[in-house]
Amino acid sequence: MQNTLSAKIAKESQRSQRKAWSVLWWVTVLLLSSAGIAQQAQDVDLVVSGGIVVTMDGERTIVQDGSVAVRGDSIVAVGPRAEIDARCKGAKTIDAHGALILPGFVNGHTHVPMTLFRGLHDDVTLHDWLYKYIFPAEAKNVNEDFVRWGTRLAAAEQIRAGVTTFADMYYFEDAVAEETKAAGMRGVLGETFIDFPAPDNKTNAAMLAYTEKFLKRWQGDPLIQAAPAPHSIYTCSKKTIQDAAALANKYHAPLLMHVAEMKKEWEDSEKANGMSPVQYLEKIGVLAPNLVAAHCIFVDEPDRKLLAERGVGCVHNPSSNMMIASGVAPVPEMRAAGVAVGLGTDGPAGSNNDLDLMEEIDLAAKLAKISKMNPLALGAKDVVAMATIDGARALHMEKEIGSLEVGKKADLILISLDEPNAVPMYDVYAQIAYSLKGSDVETVVIGGRVVMRDHKLLTVDEPAVLEKAREYGKSVKASLGME
Ligand SMILES: [Zn+2]
Repeated sequence: MQNTLSAKIAKESQRSQRKAWSVLWWVTVLLLSSAGIAQQAQDVDLVVSGGIVVTMDGERTIVQDGSVAVRGDSIVAVGPRAEIDARCKGAKTIDAHGALILPGFVNGHTHVPMTLFRGLHDDVTLHDWLYKYIFPAEAKNVNEDFVRWGTRLAAAEQIRAGVTTFADMYYFEDAVAEETKAAGMRGVLGETFIDFPAPDNKTNAAMLAYTEKFLKRWQGDPLIQAAPAPHSIYTCSKKTIQDAAALANKYHAPLLMHVAEMKKEWEDSEKANGMSPVQYLEKIGVLAPNLVAAHCIFVDEPDRKLLAERGVGCVHNPSSNMMIASGVAPVPEMRAAGVAVGLGTDGPAGSNNDLDLMEEIDLAAKLAKISKMNPLALGAKDVVAMATIDGARALHMEKEIGSLEVGKKADLILISLDEPNAVPMYDVYAQIAYSLKGSDVETVVIGGRVVMRDHKLLTVDEPAVLEKAREYGKSVKASLGME
């Protein structure tokens, strides 16, 4: 009995010794591994954690439970949540469970101060809208203050819809640039060249001097690219276009222009120049890799070949083209020819009338389908690419933005999947293109800065902007004797 008891005690102590060793072993393993993690873990500024990451990289990688880590204004890691969250210690974390994480949308063509003319004289031809209504309304109302408030309103609207980069063509573009930067948005901002006295510059000499100063001022800015923007071949002489292009070349800037947007423009060019608008731009030496050509509706096969060869970026604006009934751009053919085609809202006045790029994603696909009477003409994956990576290519910015990849700018958006129109989800691209809406965008990060969090704008004073826009509405009406 005694023996049995002492054997039992010995066995017990052996067992507790083994247990102690085993605990010690696990503690050591844990300490060592956490030291290892601490050694490997990088300090980052922000981790967006646990969403479905739609990278839009070359392989169109989707990470089901993924994270994106950001340091400064750039992406430093993208991948599975467990891996990224172990590797990166974020000063800030955004929980993205139940959301898509996408690269921010690129609105490749717009005139943002015109938000204040939204809904002024619709349902007219482009020619009448321009010459009877908008050019006179601009002459009476557009000044620097107008442009600043219009840009603030557009910033609020675009951030809400997940747009992180936009290309603009208007007047007082230096003020547009200041307001864009203040809102924390990325912009390719074009000062308009046009052959009549504009609201800001009354002569060609003033226009050139203003634009050169504007280009110099924003050189090297992390968010703003200044650009000359000759309006079109139907409002600018050959010399005006060439002067604008020379300035763009001197400062390595993009050149923004409306190209082949009207049948009349094409017919007039055939008559006056004996060639299409695209061929005319080639002839006068403007068709180059820095050109961003809005619309490109009337481009035949040789034009499309030329656009691809010269590396021109084209921007398709389906809402605008339908609303003004200007025609259907041959988007599938342009893409097949190797042209970079992005998406734009145009407008927002007279030809849209909003800045919601998600509508353009949806409409680009449907317009191509109906015009070809072929549901395979342009698919969801393609139109989502046009709003992101191809949009970046069209603006010649694909090395910086357009996809969620290490080294690119941290421009990303979270779209809620916790909405009646978001469930169930079988195909992520189809969901983005045809089911989700701009208003489902809940959080927006641009260059690492959170500019909207859970639908709350952080860089624009929205109530003040809405109030001022209503006031401007009244004074615009009064200026045109509409009251
Ligand atoms: Zn336009």
